[in-house]
Amino acid sequence: MLYLHERQAVVDACKFLQEKHLVVGTAGNVSIRRDDDIIISPSAVEYSHMSVTDIVVVDMSGNIVEGKLKPSSELPFHISIYESTNYQAIVHTHAPASTALSVVVDEIPITHYYAALFGGAIRVAPYALYGSDELAVHIAKALEGRTAALLANHGAVTVGLDIKGAIGLVEYLEYLCDVELKVLATGRPAKVISPAELDKVIAKLDTYRQ
Ligand SMILES: [Zn+2]
Repeated sequence: MLYLHERQAVVDACKFLQEKHLVVGTAGNVSIRRDDDIIISPSAVEYSHMSVTDIVVVDMSGNIVEGKLKPSSELPFHISIYESTNYQAIVHTHAPASTALSVVVDEIPITHYYAALFGGAIRVAPYALYGSDELAVHIAKALEGRTAALLANHGAVTVGLDIKGAIGLVEYLEYLCDVELKVLATGRPAKVISPAELDKVIAKLDTYRQ
């Protein structure tokens, strides 16, 4: 079986999303890229029953390389992101706060320094039918220079240089969105952090990571 290690990492990430209530039912999906292959969660399989044999390997054109199930219906945007970036892992959720905020803003204002984890203000990709090429184009554009995007009236996407990076951002994104919803609910004018101040945080995080 190809990519046993990556398959297990995809299964583990899917189960994490379910345990943390970041997806409902069979929603959401996870993938890892290895050269011209994508190791991705299958369509319509309950996470609690998912195992390594359910994971699908496809090429960059979406053709099945190995696997007996259909790949996630959101495969087009995974391909689109891998084609336009050097990221190696993608996590897609329908987390409640991320989804709620995607309905009411076009961009998450920089009201918390955690925005630095994502490269700046997180954009909301305009709504398009799930699984469509149109949605894939919107998401790839929203991710320019960022490690996350919200999908209007749908959910969220995080990306990383490895699966640990992509899955590690999911809870921070959900926290940011939850806080922003609470800020909006006050109806009070929000204090924002300037891009110059955020750059200082980005520089500090880079030093910390090294
Ligand atoms: Zn979705």
